[in-house]
Amino acid sequence: MASMMQPQIILLKEGTDTSQGKAQLVSNINACTAVADVVRTTLGPRGMDKLIHDDKGNVTISNDGATIMKLLDIVHPAAKILVDIAKSQDSEVGDGTTTVVLLAGEFLKEAKPFVEDGVHPQNLIRSYRTASYLAIERIKQLASSIEGKSLEEKKELLANCAATTLSSKLIGGEKEFFAKMVVDAVIAIGDEDRLNMIGIKKVSGGNMRDSFLVNGVAFKKTFSYAGFEQQPKKFLNPKILILNIELELKSEKENAEIRLSDPSQYQSIVDAEWNIIYDKLDKCVQSGAKVVLSRLAIGDLATQYFADRDIFCAGRVAEEDLQRVAAATGGTVQTSINDVIDEVLGTCECFEEKQVGNERFNIFSGCPSGRTATIVLRGGADQFIEEAERSLHDAIMIVRRALKNSTVVPGGGAIDMEISRYLRDKAREIAGRSQFFINSYAKALEVIPRQLCDNAGFDATDMLNKLRQKHSTGGGAPYGVDINTGGIADSYANFVWEPAVVKINAINAATEAACLVLSVDETVKNPKSESAQGDAAAGAMGGRGRGGAAFRGRGRGMRRR
Ligand code: ADP
Ligand code: MG
Repeated sequence: MASMMQPQIILLKEGTDTSQGKAQLVSNINACTAVADVVRTTLGPRGMDKLIHDDKGNVTISNDGATIMKLLDIVHPAAKILVDIAKSQDSEVGDGTTTVVLLAGEFLKEAKPFVEDGVHPQNLIRSYRTASYLAIERIKQLASSIEGKSLEEKKELLANCAATTLSSKLIGGEKEFFAKMVVDAVIAIGDEDRLNMIGIKKVSGGNMRDSFLVNGVAFKKTFSYAGFEQQPKKFLNPKILILNIELELKSEKENAEIRLSDPSQYQSIVDAEWNIIYDKLDKCVQSGAKVVLSRLAIGDLATQYFADRDIFCAGRVAEEDLQRVAAATGGTVQTSINDVIDEVLGTCECFEEKQVGNERFNIFSGCPSGRTATIVLRGGADQFIEEAERSLHDAIMIVRRALKNSTVVPGGGAIDMEISRYLRDKAREIAGRSQFFINSYAKALEVIPRQLCDNAGFDATDMLNKLRQKHSTGGGAPYGVDINTGGIADSYANFVWEPAVVKINAINAATEAACLVLSVDETVKNPKSESAQGDAAAGAMGGRGRGGAAFRGRGRGMRRR
């Protein structure tokens, strides 16, 4: 009897969960749409913010798509793709993170009825890729360049881009103020590629308007020893010595073994220790520096020594700040105090220790090589300043992009409407089913103006009709949603500008993500990887069956954290 039975082919481990086919694809699409629905309401100047808190009590308030997606901790495998594209958009261009998620969600939503009707996903993918190619070509045609303008003109144009980015944020009320600050900061660092050359320091308390830009470096006063009060707190054109050395009286017994045959020799050891530190301090003074900074500690002896000689010192300066001081003042970080030549000393027009709110700040301004700028942010609640910092980061990225690529497109949904119209026209020239798919793609692009209206409380259907009509006439391309009046307006004239790269990147990434989701027809859940973390512990307990299942649960719990 047993020999009659067909041997069972076991391909996957026991407990492996597979789902496949159309149902699987549709369920992936649903998951992605659900994710898009989460960030939907944050789009645009009238978008709402999300408050996300975790079980450790950390509270984040944000409007930034990438931040929200990161914090959501999505576990659905397909929906995770959307998190990744938001992140990549954030690191590639810095803005347009909500846009990219919304677009990807909408592309998929439009694809869903076709998938349900049995269209092969590859057909959809091919048409989507064509559509995205056409869309990007069109954006490049429409983009207008800011090349060849004078610096003043350029600054104004860049400020417009920054203001558009900021208008959707918490600090949108003060967008002109911050836009100008961001543009000044970005222009200050010039061609510098390291973004951390723009420092953002947060000091809670005070008004947003009390925020200011330092053309140089600013950092919080470091820990200081007695004697510090006697040091001068302001210098004009000081020489600055930047060290990576400890200036502290060190007991040498920690570094070396010392053998004494006679107790009277002990004094000589102590003397030697004092000599070492005094020698170092003398050399610092001889270098002519008026400001001495070190990444490591500057002890009480050194502090007093410098105070007696009218020198300012600060120890334990954060690495990043020290690097920025070096870059800005033209100095070099020294790891030895021997042979300090003039060239390694930095300088700036003014060094000052100043009160900002209830903090003391060391401020180096008027730095010769420029290349750094610091924005000191003020504001009420911590969460507020945190979000302000993220918003400024977006704006900084945008201005840098615009400066590098120097082409802009009209925002407020104008460019999206225009591509949508263009694609519909193009689709008509295409024979076959592809026409439908490209049309759907075009329709999906309308999600941006529609959502901008919805979030502002306008009648989206009415507005879209107006926009479609306007765009079908010649010269209607720059028309988008006017957030202030609830009508349509020329976004160029309203200074709602976005760098072209933001849109190009968003469309590219969203299309790729949609195609990726569409190309998956089977998900296999490997029981091993599911409980990988619980397994180590499970090993100790031994046994499978019920024990294993229990740990599976725990493994998942741990991952979610
Ligand atoms: P993202 O994370 O995608 O950048 P935002 O919340 O910053 O999302 O919203 C960006 C959208 O808001 C863009 O489509 C932009 O054109 C639009 N927008 C920004 N400012 C305005 C404005 N003043 N009027 C109309 N639309 C605007
Ligand atoms: Mg934005």
